[in-house]
Amino acid sequence: MINLSYPDITKDEFKAVKRVLKSRKLAQGEEVEAFENEFSKLVGGRNCIAVNSGTSGLHISLISAGVGPGDEVIVPSFSFAATANSVALTGATPVFVDIDIDTFNISPDSIKRAISSKTKAIQPVHLYGLPANMPAIESIAKENNLIVLEDAAQAHSAKINGIPVGQFGDFATFSFYPTKNMTSGEGGMVVCKDDQQARLCRLLRNQGMEKRYLNEVIGFNLRMTDIHAAIGRVQLRKLAKFTEKRQANADFYNSHLENVIKPTTPPGYEHVYHQYTIRLPDSNRDLVEKTLKEKGIATGVYYPIPIHRLPSFNKVIDLPNTEMASRQVLSLPVHPKLREKDLHQIVKQINLITRAGA
Ligand SMILES: *Cc1c(COP(=O)(O)O)cnc(C)c1O
Repeated sequence: MINLSYPDITKDEFKAVKRVLKSRKLAQGEEVEAFENEFSKLVGGRNCIAVNSGTSGLHISLISAGVGPGDEVIVPSFSFAATANSVALTGATPVFVDIDIDTFNISPDSIKRAISSKTKAIQPVHLYGLPANMPAIESIAKENNLIVLEDAAQAHSAKINGIPVGQFGDFATFSFYPTKNMTSGEGGMVVCKDDQQARLCRLLRNQGMEKRYLNEVIGFNLRMTDIHAAIGRVQLRKLAKFTEKRQANADFYNSHLENVIKPTTPPGYEHVYHQYTIRLPDSNRDLVEKTLKEKGIATGVYYPIPIHRLPSFNKVIDLPNTEMASRQVLSLPVHPKLREKDLHQIVKQINLITRAGA
């Protein structure tokens, strides 16, 4: 079976975990601090706060930004539920908008149309590893005095004109879930421009305490362990190599796949291919998925139901590009552990199906 994702864990990660276990210092400590400092180099030296998941990171970023009941936050509906869950968990209302079909990312025009007197923030997603249109989003935010929070869970080191994501918004959150471009097992990283808001994130992560037993605000326990941080530090050192491999795999698909709509990358944008996602005619997507599975090739549909239509939100709104994408997308294996023969096999099987008219 060719897996859709496969975390690249080597003796380096084993050694790092062993080092921490031997030290007997397992909870948040020196490893977490070192991970934050090292990750900070990826985002222009901004404040970094490691947490136990990307979802936690989005949640405390929103709270630290002052988002709460009565506020609206504009989000794409074509994303993972965490993008909207984090907003709803603050008591604010996620306002779902459409995507641009070519990039799968939030549409700046749809954002403009969704702005109301209650709008407090925009939370764009760099979906599949392609940065959202941050120049346009930043200018909309400036004009309307809105906070920008990047959901960068899928986009470690993706860039616009050489600038890595994480430096565009007031906040950004990365995820280190095992399927992401780098992992710590579970984990997340909040990136925060403002020092005071970064301090609040640190407080919220740890029961509201800076000084022990002097709780300043009501907080959570969202700490990352030193064990996870040690894994993350090793993976961070390999991120550039992982990314190169993902991009080389995507290049191979771009030059060999026939009769499918391939992902596009706007000029100046660097895609890091968390997913390599093609579009197929509505009626054929599920057939192609099934046929590939029979040939031992795993594929994924991210995401089959737009967030606004999930039972948890259950909203009736018309987002045509989001609906079309959810019917047509298919993600192919693009992870760094793919072998050359896997790539050839995947291309061969897809071209066989699409040549036959699928
Ligand atoms: C993975 C992901 C998250 C959540 O990250 P976790 O670490 O799994 O909590 C949020 N948003 C997007 C777009 C994601 O892909």
